[in-house]
Amino acid sequence: MMTRYRIRLDRGACEGIFACLVRDDRFVEADDGLATVAGAKTEGTVALDCDDDRIADARGAAAACPVDAITVEER
Ligand code: SF4
Repeated sequence: MMTRYRIRLDRGACEGIFACLVRDDRFVEADDGLATVAGAKTEGTVALDCDDDRIADARGAAAACPVDAITVEER
């Protein structure tokens, strides 16, 4: 089912543990060794607006992040 949602990743909180990357490939490693979202800038909190059927993947990544750097919000 298509859902509109926003993924946010607080790069200030991220510790580069990469539990997110294996659960949702929209999370990628940036040059500084921390995670970002594909196509986003790499400073501060990054956000990605989505309209697809992959919210479960995003939520799985958020739940797996040990420092709660990822939030997923339906819009
Ligand atoms: S799981 Fe959390 S701490 Fe680990 S890379 Fe992803 S956002 Fe960063």
